[in-house]
Amino acid sequence: MDKNIKKRIAILGSTGSIGTQTLEVIEQQKDHFSVEVLTANSNAELLIKQALKYKPNVVVIGDDNKYDLVFDALDPQGIKVYSGANALSSVVQMDSVDTVLTALVGYAGLLPTIKAIEAGKTIALANKETLVVAGDLITRLAKEKGVNIFPVDSEHSAIFQCLVGEFHNPIEKIILTASGGPFRGKNREFLSSVAKEQALKHPNWEMGAKITIDSASLMNKGLEVIEAKWLFDLSPEQIDVVVHPQSIIHSLVQFEDSSIKAQLGLPDMRLPIQFALGYPNRMKADFPRFSFLDYPQLTFEKPDMETFKNLGLAYEALNKGGNTACVLNAANEVVVEKFLKDQIGFLEMSDVIESCMNSISFIESPTLEDYIQTDQETRLVAEEKVKQIF
Ligand code: NAD
Ligand code: MG
Repeated sequence: MDKNIKKRIAILGSTGSIGTQTLEVIEQQKDHFSVEVLTANSNAELLIKQALKYKPNVVVIGDDNKYDLVFDALDPQGIKVYSGANALSSVVQMDSVDTVLTALVGYAGLLPTIKAIEAGKTIALANKETLVVAGDLITRLAKEKGVNIFPVDSEHSAIFQCLVGEFHNPIEKIILTASGGPFRGKNREFLSSVAKEQALKHPNWEMGAKITIDSASLMNKGLEVIEAKWLFDLSPEQIDVVVHPQSIIHSLVQFEDSSIKAQLGLPDMRLPIQFALGYPNRMKADFPRFSFLDYPQLTFEKPDMETFKNLGLAYEALNKGGNTACVLNAANEVVVEKFLKDQIGFLEMSDVIESCMNSISFIESPTLEDYIQTDQETRLVAEEKVKQIF
């Protein structure tokens, strides 16, 4: 794209952790980007504040009950206001949108992402759940439409950055780094009684509640293994995970000549966000610089898959294929929500997910309808299983 043309961005989930950091990036790079659409699920106050500051043409508030509040604040400013989940699927298709940054959380990202790809929009993908649920369908559709999906997730951005200039060279394998989360080194006895407050304290990253719990349970790394498979067209054996508690090396690629490339930096999501929006250009930014002298020791360990069962379950879902990862994701969304309400223990989360993976009917080549069905069915079954335990 011409460097002088501003890319017009739709941010789905602008009030969240990734959404607000995306707005920071856009503010610093005003010559390159403009805000066309902002959306939030229920935080009307922040959405209004953002809209008054960044002057998008359109906002969407998910919660219908908050429509009047948002409309009264923004309509006089000439900003169009819509509400409800369906509105997301329409606004991503507007002619005035170039890139859709998916920073909403969970399965809710699936349909709007499909609609955006169908309309030929470039995707900056933070919402990893979309690729976990329906990676085959999404990547097929993107290919068919000639649409690029640029990763925002820091590990996948690292791999993408390592691959620039190497797209013709086959990948031998990739190594995803994992911080290990707040419970690294803990045993199952300890984990059996941890409360949500402990799980919500991530050592290196400040993120939304769902991904923070996923990081504590290693499900986040499991979802990222599946995300990597689809983004980089890899087999499960080509994806390794190594625990690297300092979160300085964001991930690595090994090529067929044995060379390994890594991408490094301080943990700061604004860099991968900016890289995804600005690709192929690197734009000058004042993000804090990394110094090796501040980190004399970068360390690496094997992930403890005995204690943290979710990572193994994600590999299992990947190997099984079909709708299994959709089941894993839906069951995980249910148990995380329950854990955040103190309605299930930390370790029981994996038990419910595993039991759903064993009980929901397997579909070898799911259609979109099948995925929607699988998601709904799994949620009901998972809710039931949680009730039985609690
Ligand atoms: P968050 O909870 O902080 O924000 C979520 C945003 O999505 C909010 O704006 C919320 O209003 C909106 N939202 C929530 N549910 C919605 C729904 N049902 N419909 C429409 N909008 C909805 O989450 P986050 O930490 O910013 O994460 C967003 C996504 O990015 C997740 O998929 C996460 O895995 C991924 N991600 C986040 C980080 C990070 O550092 N936070 C890093 C890598 C990937
Ligand atoms: Mg990540």
